[in-house]
Amino acid sequence: MTKDDCIFCKIASGEIPSNSVYEDEDFKVILDISPASRGHALILPKLHYDNAYEMDEAFAAKVFPLAVKMSKAMKKALNCDGFNILQNNEEAAGQTVFHFHVHLIPRYAGDDVQIASKPHETTKEEQEEVASLIKKQL
Ligand code: 5GP
Ligand code: ZN
Repeated sequence: MTKDDCIFCKIASGEIPSNSVYEDEDFKVILDISPASRGHALILPKLHYDNAYEMDEAFAAKVFPLAVKMSKAMKKALNCDGFNILQNNEEAAGQTVFHFHVHLIPRYAGDDVQIASKPHETTKEEQEEVASLIKKQL
């Protein structure tokens, strides 16, 4: 299904033009309009899913093989020194376009891309509690 007011649905369907670098029956891969680095691209499913938790696992299983295929090609094409494959879900996690997408971000030694997090201390008890809460939901 697609969503009428969704820009990535329109780009994935071709209604809005984009710099597409790959397409198959399920996905379009486009260059990001405001790239974090040279070659920053986005994997867009042609079906609309708001985020990863809305996606069925069978469809999700097609996403990472494509990310691997793209990263291999982009690494060769762009001669980058590293590569981030990342994906944001909901506003609190930095998502700004609410159509599931995967960022493919080539990295160059000394670039100014920021994907930072600060390590926090925890305890054995807290880790056990968190692990138990997650396991109960699976
Ligand atoms: P998010 O913050 O949701 O994970 O990432 C959204 C990404 O989509 C951003 O990197 C942003 O630059 C990109 N973006 C937003 N609108 C457009 C657009 O119309 N075309 C393209 N190619 N990229 C877009
Ligand atoms: Zn959409």
